[in-house]
Amino acid sequence: MVTVGTLAGWFEDAYPPRLAESWDKVGLSVGDPDAAVTRVLFAVDVTDATVAEAIETGADLIVSHHPLLLRGLHAVRTDQPKGRVVTALLRAGISVFSAHTNADAAADGVADALAAACGLVDLRPLLPAPDAAPGLGLGRIGHLPQPLTADAFARRVAASVPSTTGGVKLGGAPGRVLATVAVLGGAGDSMLDAARASGVDCYVTGDLRHHPAQDFLAHAGAPVLVDVPHWAAEWLWLPRADAFLQRTASAAGVAIASSVSALVTDPWVARY
Ligand SMILES: [Zn+2]
Repeated sequence: MVTVGTLAGWFEDAYPPRLAESWDKVGLSVGDPDAAVTRVLFAVDVTDATVAEAIETGADLIVSHHPLLLRGLHAVRTDQPKGRVVTALLRAGISVFSAHTNADAAADGVADALAAACGLVDLRPLLPAPDAAPGLGLGRIGHLPQPLTADAFARRVAASVPSTTGGVKLGGAPGRVLATVAVLGGAGDSMLDAARASGVDCYVTGDLRHHPAQDFLAHAGAPVLVDVPHWAAEWLWLPRADAFLQRTASAAGVAIASSVSALVTDPWVARY
């Protein structure tokens, strides 16, 4: 029998909590560490629909990227969204483990997955983690094996990430030739200056707002921007986390069923 606590330990080896940002809340947030796990569901978000999928597939552990309880929860009521999800999880005996900014920074994590989807090689962190092994940290910088126009590169990225209502957007000159690219999964406003200072030709991130993007592009020689919907960029990590689980379980001589959720938890459902 493999327990929730054992699996949490495996995932914490792969995505060390010390790599998480200080404001983050990572690790096991719901459930009994001593409970048995027979099936794991990987998902970006833990929503009502994710819990329904876990129940339907018989999963007893959800491994998510976004923490369910990142902000303070002062009541667990079934007439409120988070309380409803927590109650459904506890009633169904489903635990939740999250690897968030620690999975962004770790090897084979979110940043590496996004860099691979963008076709980048020779990777290094955009913002190295101060007390971690070399190569770890937030985001990645890499090279394109063959230079591409921004237009061709953005099309390639769009074809490599799951489809969403928002789609992939390009800011800057479509004809610019790109050789170096920085990537950061999720919302990348906070790293715009770091991306520009790194001297790359392109910055791939998500959730960019009008003014920060406009101000960034107004700098002479600024990198072009490729905006990938937050959910789509981070979903790319899930199959890698699943592969890690299966490798580790097989090395430990145990069988654990697992699947990656294909539910699009991007909030936007239509575009007009
Ligand atoms: Zn995110």
